[in-house]
Amino acid sequence: MQEPTHILAGILIQRAAGAVFKPRAVELGVTAALAFLSHGLLDELARVTYHPAKPDFHSAFWIIYHSVVAVTTILFLIWWWKQFKWGIVFAALPDVDWVFIHGQEIFHVSLPFYRQSHLHDLLHFIYHQVPPFTGLTAMIERLPSERHNPWACLWEVLLVAVLWWLVRLKSKGSGPKSAPRKAK
Ligand SMILES: [Zn+2]
Repeated sequence: MQEPTHILAGILIQRAAGAVFKPRAVELGVTAALAFLSHGLLDELARVTYHPAKPDFHSAFWIIYHSVVAVTTILFLIWWWKQFKWGIVFAALPDVDWVFIHGQEIFHVSLPFYRQSHLHDLLHFIYHQVPPFTGLTAMIERLPSERHNPWACLWEVLLVAVLWWLVRLKSKGSGPKSAPRKAK
């Protein structure tokens, strides 16, 4: 999935963990584990969205779509980084794989220890070999693969809208407006 989707999932997980778990070390540990796992689940779900494996710089749609995704990612980080960085970091962490792998291609360098997408491989192992995650994967794999269909980006747009709505909905009761922190 695209980064805005992972970010929103991380925010919701950190918020839920914060409401349930105390002390803070436990809250952050649970957030880290669940946010990391959420990345694998969303990436499995990516099969129903527009998600070609390789960048397609010849496609105007690909360029525009990914530009919008990049701007949205930056805006989300500006809005929520301070409050939810722990959830955001772990929900997005596996994509460090692509920074290393594509970075080596772009800069013509070679890092022997990072030729593979290690974190995605780990998530792939979990979701394809470890019950009960395998059950979820089996359900998702029944869905059609739309990775190369540009219209399928609408599924991800819809998912982002729902997650965003959930983030906003829950912040009404506990957000900074209704419970202002003391100014330092
Ligand atoms: Zn990923």
